[in-house]
Amino acid sequence: MFTGTFPTKFQWKNIVSSAVNPIERLQKEERMRRDNDFVKFLRLSENNNYDFLWQYAKISGRLLTAKHIAKLWTTPPTSGNCKLCGHFVLDILNHQICMCTELQSQRLSLYNRLTELTSFNFMYTTVSKSDESFSDLLLGNHEDLCDILIPEHRLEVLNEGFSFLKYCRL
Ligand SMILES: [Zn+2]
Repeated sequence: MFTGTFPTKFQWKNIVSSAVNPIERLQKEERMRRDNDFVKFLRLSENNNYDFLWQYAKISGRLLTAKHIAKLWTTPPTSGNCKLCGHFVLDILNHQICMCTELQSQRLSLYNRLTELTSFNFMYTTVSKSDESFSDLLLGNHEDLCDILIPEHRLEVLNEGFSFLKYCRL
């Protein structure tokens, strides 16, 4: 362009992506910080890359699961009647993950599987955690588990958590 000749298609693509992408990214991040609806998504993606769920889908082959989890990540905290037990609750997802009586047996087997996988007693340690941090853990935020979770087990823990989350209905 500076020499008076038009850039090749390849050069043009490079110019566009280096000029447009950073601006787009900044605008997207700014918009997300302004809006409370994205609080959960931002918190969860803080320790994981934005494309974390797609990487998961690629590695595990569980595309529909990844799609369901993406919906859970991006749905703002909602109050209302739980679709499983019918009770009015302040945060439907946290309630279903941590308390809903309709998921009691699934939750118990999840605790057992996670305890087996990590040699870490989930039943007791999760009682001391907030509902939010246990929900985050199942949703893929393994920050709290860094010390005890060996990388080879990470995918298994994700699979277990995500399998349980398939029962959640927002
Ligand atoms: Zn419920």
